[in-house]
Amino acid sequence: MDKLSKCQANYTPLTPLTFLTRCAKCFANCTSVIHEGTRFTWKQTYQRCCRLAFSLRTLNIATNDVVAVLAPNIPAMYEMHFAVPMAGAVINTINTRLDANSIATILQHSEAKVLFVDYEYIPKAKEALALLLMGQKTQHITTLKHHSSPPLLIIIDDINSPTALGESLEYEQLVRKGDPNFVPEKIHDEWAPIALNYTSGTTSAPKGVVYSHRGAYLSTLSLILGWEMGNQPVYLWTLPMFHCNGWCFTWGVAARGGTNVCLRKVAAYDMYKNLSLHHVTHMCCAPIVFNIILEAKASERVEMKSRVEILTGGAPPPPSLIVKIESLGFHVTHAYGLTEATGPALVCEWQNQWNQLPKDEQARLKARQGISVLTLEDVDVKKVDTMESVPRDGKTMGEVVLRGSSIMKGYLKDPESTSKAFSEGWFHTGDAGVIHKDGYLEIKDRFKDVIISGGENISSVELESVLYRHPRVLEAAVVAMPHPRWGESPCAFVVLKNFEGKMNDHVTEDDIIGYCRKNMPPFMVPKVVKIVEEMPKTATGKIQKSKLREKEAKNFTISQNLQSKNNKTNALATSRL
Ligand code: ADP
Repeated sequence: MDKLSKCQANYTPLTPLTFLTRCAKCFANCTSVIHEGTRFTWKQTYQRCCRLAFSLRTLNIATNDVVAVLAPNIPAMYEMHFAVPMAGAVINTINTRLDANSIATILQHSEAKVLFVDYEYIPKAKEALALLLMGQKTQHITTLKHHSSPPLLIIIDDINSPTALGESLEYEQLVRKGDPNFVPEKIHDEWAPIALNYTSGTTSAPKGVVYSHRGAYLSTLSLILGWEMGNQPVYLWTLPMFHCNGWCFTWGVAARGGTNVCLRKVAAYDMYKNLSLHHVTHMCCAPIVFNIILEAKASERVEMKSRVEILTGGAPPPPSLIVKIESLGFHVTHAYGLTEATGPALVCEWQNQWNQLPKDEQARLKARQGISVLTLEDVDVKKVDTMESVPRDGKTMGEVVLRGSSIMKGYLKDPESTSKAFSEGWFHTGDAGVIHKDGYLEIKDRFKDVIISGGENISSVELESVLYRHPRVLEAAVVAMPHPRWGESPCAFVVLKNFEGKMNDHVTEDDIIGYCRKNMPPFMVPKVVKIVEEMPKTATGKIQKSKLREKEAKNFTISQNLQSKNNKTNALATSRL
């Protein structure tokens, strides 16, 4: 049997590009993309991708060149997920919320040959290119050299109401000029790069995460299965495509012959309108988007006629929020992941017997991050110092580590960080978690966000989920505050519902502390609660705890801070972590 060998007929490189080719054949006349007044069929999408890939080659884009895109969820952004690799190049989607400095840093690091920019972001892109040319020092790169050939700028005009953009190279022009019969670049090696995604930099300077065709293909399949996404879904693009290539659903919707409903802005009115108009069946989003849906004004809402599947992740969804959003007719599946894992790595796989439980209990179980998606060979929670697996007791914290085919190839031009991330044969997530008796994982924190008070570990996530149960709390974030006696103590920041520019009526900081005293053990109760108007957020919409910590730390002397840091290092080494 071992004499049977691989040949072209039985062994082909795995690539998500085959999803489009297949879809263009069997769903040729079905709707592929909708964006306001614009609609395409899968046959048209395929041909538009061939045309663009052809034009990219005529612009001298060669194999493995980086093609960067700064755009919201518009048809061009979707098409480029196929067209760029069809030209043999690597797609680098850039977060539109980043500032010009960060964009310049990314362009410098990726050495992108082309930068496609949606018309709304032209000023920002031009500023980034100017910075790149000046070789100015940016926040993250102190050795920013003169960039010898900055990327070629190509504008993406508004497809629904184009404006004359003068001399600029424009996306639709490239599509028009391209050859619809272009034969896509053959992928000879499934390990070849398909995408480059920069981490959001909450924990360190952004790193360029490289995905292979194989990783992207397998991840897409396992996410479709993990979410039980059936044939021809109608998918609403509430998750930015620039975030891990839309958790692979850019490729995934083609794999299922579905319809992509593009959304430029994640606002309540636009979401409700598109959900209802196009009979949306699926959407992905961070839990923060639940608040936008729940807080919508009566005039913005539309009654949900059928169930919409939501895949949520990116931050822990508080159980109380799951209960509320499900009561509106959404059904939530919870996943956990990170850029390096090509999107979701764990999914809270539902067990039928849980259907008999009360709703609150169901939500509590669902708020756990769950078990590995099919592409992962293994996931574990390990003690950081010994790499020993923690017991399945739901209490002992360790670092979540992953291993499998959906993990990135590595960090671009950064062998040191790559080997550190992959040490001991595992990918180290930097997240602190526990394993429950039933084998389901629960993330308790990021390592640097764990609060150690008097040697006791306090999970900020647990504390936040209690705060979210308070009827007036819209958003909550808990950080460590230096404390002269305990080393650290929890400090909570909350945004109240219906804040209208003035201190909210009857709810005070003392009320929240009183509520905490009733609902959690005394050592967990925040010593300080701050009611704020708004939380600082990262470009991916996550609450920036480092900024909140900075705010708090200002109240303490440097020596007290140092003292607290030393306490933390000692406590981390000796504690259950
Ligand atoms: P960054 O690490 O720069 O924020 P990512 O966007 O890749 O970049 O974020 C991944 C991180 O988000 C994870 O390491 C984890 O801390 C957090 N995260 C993602 N999904 C979940 C989830 N379902 N529950 C809790 N935390 C999550």
